[in-house]
Amino acid sequence: MAAAAGDVRDVVIIGSGPAGLTAAIYAARANLRPLVIEGEPSSSSDQPGGQLMLTTEVENYPGFPDGIMGPDLMHAFKAQATRFGAEFVTEKATGVDASERPFTVATYSHSVKARAVIVATGARALLLGLENEARLMGYGVSTCATCDGFFHRGFEIAVVGGGDSALEEALFLSKFATKVTLIHRRKELRASRIMQDRALANPKIEFLWDSVVVDVLGDTSLESLKVRNVVTGEDTILAVHGLFVAIGHVPNTDLFKGVLDMEDTGYLRTVGHGTWTNVEGVFACGDVQDHVYRQAITAAGSGCMAAIDAERWLAETA
Ligand code: NAP
Repeated sequence: MAAAAGDVRDVVIIGSGPAGLTAAIYAARANLRPLVIEGEPSSSSDQPGGQLMLTTEVENYPGFPDGIMGPDLMHAFKAQATRFGAEFVTEKATGVDASERPFTVATYSHSVKARAVIVATGARALLLGLENEARLMGYGVSTCATCDGFFHRGFEIAVVGGGDSALEEALFLSKFATKVTLIHRRKELRASRIMQDRALANPKIEFLWDSVVVDVLGDTSLESLKVRNVVTGEDTILAVHGLFVAIGHVPNTDLFKGVLDMEDTGYLRTVGHGTWTNVEGVFACGDVQDHVYRQAITAAGSGCMAAIDAERWLAETA
């Protein structure tokens, strides 16, 4: 860790997706010497760079008319933050003490004091909650097409979900798989019209409506799914080599239970249009407090807001 023992940082940022890194750029340019606790590369929910590290092409981030790969975009964010003096700790935050100032943020190996904390821990993929899904995770079951799509080249696979993520995964996977079955629990997709049009027009994608996966079968790797039609109650077995679960996200807020106010859904509560939490000096931005928009651009925007809120608060309390 870059901070010396006894050093008190002006700003510690927890999380390094679009929100955390934008906060780092703005805080660094305000001479606040931000330290970013960026997460761990081996983790599926706390990887440095956040969820965009698990996506393919980002087509809707302004400024990139030809699109940009998610990981490339996050590397550029980090390079920009580094250029202005942001420092990084490649570890997961394990504890936050906001009961007294300066605040304390701990990782597995260090703890650092901070006058202000910006929480940008984002959200992670939801799972179906089946016992065998957990057992076969990484052995045919995945939440990341970018990471695992290649393993299914020449095979049939399935995607669960009816939102933009599911359709994005299905479209990406159709480049590798011989067939993609999209399993959705209703008859209507939740995804945006443009994604629906693309997926419906793709000859490799087949839709299984009104259907849920009730079991994930296979000894040492995924072999098939037990799929139930929720209207008829009929169960069928679908042979697949891969299953991609794309049914939404939950915020990464376990660390803040009892520390910060949150909604019943786990999203952090912020006050008004700003990024203030219920604890003065602790700010929250990005998907960890936004269950409505959840876009890279809105996360980046709120990261900018959090850095400005922190800067103004620090100036007032100095
Ligand atoms: P989402 O919009 O919340 O969609 C989740 C989907 O999974 C829904 O269709 C939902 O079904 C289904 N689902 C939820 N729980 C389920 C369960 N237990 N079993 C079976 N199905 C279940 O999540 P998302 O697709 O991850 O998208 C999140 C946000 O990111 C959205 O705002 C989206 O627009 C955005 N996003 C944008 C892009 C893009 O613009 N390229 C790409 C990815 C995501 P119901 O429809 O029945 O609720």
